[in-house]
Amino acid sequence: MSRNTRAIIHLENIKSNYLFANRCAPSSKNIAVIKADAYGHGIVEVAKYLQNTAYSFAVAIFDEALELRAAGITKDILVLQGVQTHEEVASSLRHDLTLTLHSKKQIELILASQVAGSLKIWLKLDTGMHRLGLVGSELGDAVKRLENCPWVDDELVISTHFSNADVLDDDCTNRQLQLFNQQIKQVSTPKTLRSSLSNSSALVGFPETHSHFNRPGIMLYGVPLFDRAHASDAELRPTMTLKAPIIGLRTIQPAESVGYNGKWTSNRESNIATVSVGYADGYPRQAANGTPVFINGKRCPLVGRVSMDLISVDVTDLALVEIGDTAELWGNNIPVKEVATLSNTIAYELLTGVSKRVPRIYS
Ligand SMILES: *Cc1c(COP(=O)(O)O)cnc(C)c1O
Repeated sequence: MSRNTRAIIHLENIKSNYLFANRCAPSSKNIAVIKADAYGHGIVEVAKYLQNTAYSFAVAIFDEALELRAAGITKDILVLQGVQTHEEVASSLRHDLTLTLHSKKQIELILASQVAGSLKIWLKLDTGMHRLGLVGSELGDAVKRLENCPWVDDELVISTHFSNADVLDDDCTNRQLQLFNQQIKQVSTPKTLRSSLSNSSALVGFPETHSHFNRPGIMLYGVPLFDRAHASDAELRPTMTLKAPIIGLRTIQPAESVGYNGKWTSNRESNIATVSVGYADGYPRQAANGTPVFINGKRCPLVGRVSMDLISVDVTDLALVEIGDTAELWGNNIPVKEVATLSNTIAYELLTGVSKRVPRIYS
């Protein structure tokens, strides 16, 4: 391969972060969320590595589950958005997928599906996110009809999703939890309903939300979870190092500018390194001047606009720098969350946005 731009994936750190989730929620079954290509890390590689450690897996969409089955993954797989057609219902049964039902339409689809077998079903309640899920008044009827349906497994799981669990001082999470508990209490069924509420930030920051199943995602990928520093930050290990080579070096004079539209101008004689990574690789175009890039042991500031295939970095303060040296865009030395904040976005978007032009290297 000609260009040396790479995303190094630290699988052992993903495992370590998963085990930290287990330590935080030891009484729950913690389902590893590996949707969106395992947050950009490679869904099949991550699933294979975690299959003897994780309780089970969750993905967002049906196709992601099929990709895992085609790769030979046999663990339970929860499809968070469920399915839309009778063919997908039948295929879900064949592939032993667990389906979330978040709308009356999906419930009708299951009730009408007439499949031979036993579908594993989760019902989703809307407790405040107002994106997907049944409202409380629909729950009792849905549970009754599904429990009476011959091709639905007895053991229903009721789930919900938090909107603000990353904000530690917000009582929104507790209000969602209370509403969830009230709505579950109103359902009359002889069976025990199991439940699932917590994403990563709720799992770590709001232990009262733990239940039969939690659904940690971003914490597996080592990103600090909250709006402020937290003890858990020290436990989470980075799982992706994005690296690229310096392919150009030049010295510019004071008052000369760099990159498209001259968005940065030097105030001294400056050495500028040009690095082979850009927004087409997933490095954020919104990254501000000064965003750190780690080169030869030092943080150096990004200067000028991020281009499609290149960025420019002020390396004047480095004693030694050469073409071919490697720049770390994020990883062990530059937290991806720091780059995200300086780019007005979140680490989830940067990790999932690393494009297919960047080879993933597993270590
Ligand atoms: C993505 C997702 C999760 C994981 O959330 P994180 O914040 O990444 O931990 C859990 N539950 C649902 C329904 C999701 O869509």
